[in-house]
Amino acid sequence: MGNYKELWTKLGVDLEKHDKLCAVLPEMYGNTYLTQENRPQGMNYFNSVVAEIHGFRIQELDELKKKGTKVVGTFCVFVPDEIILAAGAVGVGLCAGSEFWVEDGEKVLPRNMCPLIKALMGAKVGGTCPYFQSCDMIIGETTCDGKKKAWEVLDKYVPVHVMEIPQMKRDKDYKLWASEIKEFINKMEELTGNKITVESLKAAMKTVSEKRKALKRLYDLRKYKPSPISGLDSLLISQIAFYDDPERFTQKLNELCDELEERVKEDKGNCGTKKRILITGTPMALPNWKLHSIIESLDAEVVVEENCTGTRYFENQVSSEGETMEQLITNISDRYLNINCACFTPNTGRIDDIVRYVKEYNIDGVIDADLAFCHTYAVESSSVEKELKDRNIPIMHIETDYSTEDSGQIKTRVEAFLEML
Ligand code: SF4
Ligand code: SF4
Repeated sequence: MGNYKELWTKLGVDLEKHDKLCAVLPEMYGNTYLTQENRPQGMNYFNSVVAEIHGFRIQELDELKKKGTKVVGTFCVFVPDEIILAAGAVGVGLCAGSEFWVEDGEKVLPRNMCPLIKALMGAKVGGTCPYFQSCDMIIGETTCDGKKKAWEVLDKYVPVHVMEIPQMKRDKDYKLWASEIKEFINKMEELTGNKITVESLKAAMKTVSEKRKALKRLYDLRKYKPSPISGLDSLLISQIAFYDDPERFTQKLNELCDELEERVKEDKGNCGTKKRILITGTPMALPNWKLHSIIESLDAEVVVEENCTGTRYFENQVSSEGETMEQLITNISDRYLNINCACFTPNTGRIDDIVRYVKEYNIDGVIDADLAFCHTYAVESSSVEKELKDRNIPIMHIETDYSTEDSGQIKTRVEAFLEML
């Protein structure tokens, strides 16, 4: 990484602690990613994004901020990217996927909480994430109890706006969610000083739609047997989608997909022998590559993730029909409320999605992977297991965190599962 110390200092990054974080990542990335064989050339762009993870993009954000652009941080796929973009702000999905941040998070939160929440808090409390430090505002949501209460603590460090996500999907919940989106529009207009119009919202919807289309294209290519790209590489792309410049990201991903299409043509007739795995459960925020890395070190490939760093981020487009703000807000509200997160009751749509993907992606086995202390997904895991077993779909459940202590044990369990398939 280049020399960005001056920039990090300006952002209030704790340089000493940050050096420790930067010391771990390259080795971890090298061991996990660069040891893979036969990677597509198009992954070079995504490698460079990781190599410059706290450099180039942070500098870009800094340039934008100098011109008055606001940076808005998010932690959930329910926060509509379209509104942030339409207000002329930049959205960054913050990662919270490293064990490194958990210790600082535990200074202000109880220990028995999910590692994602502790990591997000630790990244801010410890001042070690330049993305977080670049944010003018954080958008929280009331998806789960842990996050809902954590925003009250985070608000002491950075302004937080909380969106109330309904917990059911009745007509009145759609109305509540539409009213939350309206309030979010007001908040973004207030923060940026820019009025969101039908035109600016439609333009933003187009940008986000192109990004979703490119991700869908990548996932459609993974349906081929063998998949032309590893699960690890696909996961990295999904993780980068949350904070890279959306137009550049879309262009680079489409270039990669062109290459993957060629690979598929060349691979014709070779069906591959690896077991095809679907992962479902809680999101895998950067740099959480643990489970993919374990699975793909065995004779298996992850070909689809039914989670928020997978299909839930890009499935279903926002309809661009309509010429009034009211209509566009309804379209946005409808699309987002169709995300099947375990924070809803009931959440049977998630099981329908998994069953559909099992067919579409030619899946041999499902791994339901949840972060420790995530109650909503942990409770839902028994109904997911029952529904899949009733349909003779092999499934195993894993509960884990960001540490590597249980990696050996997980590997043994996954190995046994693969043998059974
Ligand atoms: S799992 Fe639920 S709460 Fe978490 S990012 Fe996804 S939608 Fe949001
Ligand atoms: S993984 Fe579960 S507990 Fe953690 S933030 Fe997401 S929904 Fe909440």
